Amino acid sequence: MNFHVMTLFPEMFLAADNSILGRAMQKELISIDAVNIRDYTLDKHKKVDDYTYGGGAGMLMQAQPIFDCHKAICDKIGSDKKVRTIYVTPQGKLFDQEIAKELSNEKELIFLCGHYEGVDERVLEEIATDYISIGDYVLTGGELPAMVMIDCISRLVPGVLSNEESAQTESFDDGLLEYPQYTRPEVWMDKKVPDVLLSGHHANIEKWRHEQSLERTKQRRPDLYEKYAHKNMKY
Ligand code: SAM
Repeated sequence: MNFHVMTLFPEMFLAADNSILGRAMQKELISIDAVNIRDYTLDKHKKVDDYTYGGGAGMLMQAQPIFDCHKAICDKIGSDKKVRTIYVTPQGKLFDQEIAKELSNEKELIFLCGHYEGVDERVLEEIATDYISIGDYVLTGGELPAMVMIDCISRLVPGVLSNEESAQTESFDDGLLEYPQYTRPEVWMDKKVPDVLLSGHHANIEKWRHEQSLERTKQRRPDLYEKYAHKNMKY
């Protein structure tokens, strides 16, 4: 899967070349191409932003450099169909595991990272296919949101995780949070690992884990629990 990121700060994406994503890039399961929007400005001073019409604080990213940057990426991809282009914005729908799963089916994805006050609306109308937010708060730029999404989507690309099972039994996969987990030692600070996990009885372990998932979700995310109960439980 190939991620193409339009940004004013491409160096921020070097941070992705580590750990699981770094290994996935080496194995060519994913690639991240961070493209500097500034390279496409026609302004002789390399300017990419200007004041907003109608007044108001802050600068806005201009349409032309973004449009030309997007065109160059699309030409490089060379696909006949429109490439999915995500504008990361607090005004988008909230990113979640469902959206990540859906996006992981694409072969190419383009992200646009805004900065300053945001982006001229006209270029968004031309290139954006999706508007996605990582939460109801405002950050200084779209680079961290894009990285959050790339990280989450990459884990769902077959082969990226060494044990694919672990992506299937995690929080949100069945609408519940994951159960508590333990590793060695068996006793730590007088706290013992629950007996059932040492029993080797797989059916009992599954049952215990499911109960724990239900309890944890009910306590920590009553909103998710309600949804799950409505869908799966008979009253
Ligand atoms: N003026 C914009 C508004 O009120 O919606 C906010 C602009 S924000 C300071 C600058 C950029 O950061 C945005 O264009 C967007 O790309 C990114 N950004 C900020 N918060 C975000 C969030 N919660 N999710 C996704 N992107 C975000």
